[in-house]
Amino acid sequence: MWSQATRNQAVTAKIERTMSRAFNFSAGPAALPTEVLEEARDQLLDYQGRGLSVMEMSHRSKEFIAIAEQAEADLRELLAVPEGYHVLFMQGGATLQFAAVPLNLLGEKSSADYVETGSWASKAIAEARRYCEVHVVASSAEENFSYVPAPDTWDCSADAAYLHVTGNETIGGVEYHQYPDTGSVPLVADLSSTLLSRPLDVSRFGVIYSGAQKNIGPAGITVVLVREDLAGKAAAATPSMLDYAVQAESGSMHNTPPTYSWYIAGLVFKWLKAQGGLEVMAERNDSKSGRLYSAIDTSNFYRCPVRPADRSRMNVAFTLADAELDGRFLEQAEAGGLLNLKGHRSVGGMRASLYNAVPEQAVDALIDFMRRFETDHA
Ligand code: PMP
Repeated sequence: MWSQATRNQAVTAKIERTMSRAFNFSAGPAALPTEVLEEARDQLLDYQGRGLSVMEMSHRSKEFIAIAEQAEADLRELLAVPEGYHVLFMQGGATLQFAAVPLNLLGEKSSADYVETGSWASKAIAEARRYCEVHVVASSAEENFSYVPAPDTWDCSADAAYLHVTGNETIGGVEYHQYPDTGSVPLVADLSSTLLSRPLDVSRFGVIYSGAQKNIGPAGITVVLVREDLAGKAAAATPSMLDYAVQAESGSMHNTPPTYSWYIAGLVFKWLKAQGGLEVMAERNDSKSGRLYSAIDTSNFYRCPVRPADRSRMNVAFTLADAELDGRFLEQAEAGGLLNLKGHRSVGGMRASLYNAVPEQAVDALIDFMRRFETDHA
């Protein structure tokens, strides 16, 4: 049953919510900055006095080309992308990159190395097995994917076409806080749920890919950074849409791109720059996730199964002392304006995703709610 305090809080939050937006902890598609949505709303019917929506423009129009080029320039600036990298806006999500990576990078080689840290790494491995021999150089499967295996234990092969890591496991809440030096073997990273959450040394990577629907924009677009020397040797059977060289040559417009998603991603990049860039984001993300983990660790009611050194700053996974209370927790959280806290169906429990657009107040409200729930149910 609800305590009076919890009920009052839920009512207050509901009233506030009619005037503002709910706190959205979705893992993806995820919260977007309110300012971005407001700008999109203001330009929805009439983009900069052109008398039409961005959705209604040709992707070859000078207006849209300007939007696309600005988005790329802002992304390059935010990530300080060095010379010698293609920045591609592709389609098919990170899932299609699971295939695009071996198709583009194998060349004459027949095997690739993968580190298995959770559900998304496992999916990347399964897809790569359709195209090459996959060597799993390290796995945390036997401990329920609760950590990142130490790089000095990885059993890497010198003749691998590349080494693939999943920078942040969105489901398990496990994140690399450093990346290993892989020498001459290109490091390939699925950074779907961590790209843009902090500064990154892009020069360490051969390929970085990320679906947009976490820190970049709406679903439909996939950001791919490719070191130029790695493009241009795709297997003959590679669909041209997946060929990095073809996409680079056509400015990511080999076909009609998802123009509106690209435009919104551009607004998000502008917003990130206005916030002060990725250093500022990193500070905020450390502070948000640090406060939540600390609230979990100091309670006897909540528990995070991930080893502290490898915990994600983007996806905080936790369980309640009694899983029977999960339903009530979620119901009361939702009534209080705290949405999408249910853990992934494959692991259960709770997950709070704290992407860039999730404000500090959302985390404070969640911690407050968790404390009240604990008092009522411990
Ligand atoms: N990799 C990771 C780390 C993810 O979080 C996701 C989606 N949640 C995917 C891959 C698959 O992405 P998409 O749905 O864009 O194909």
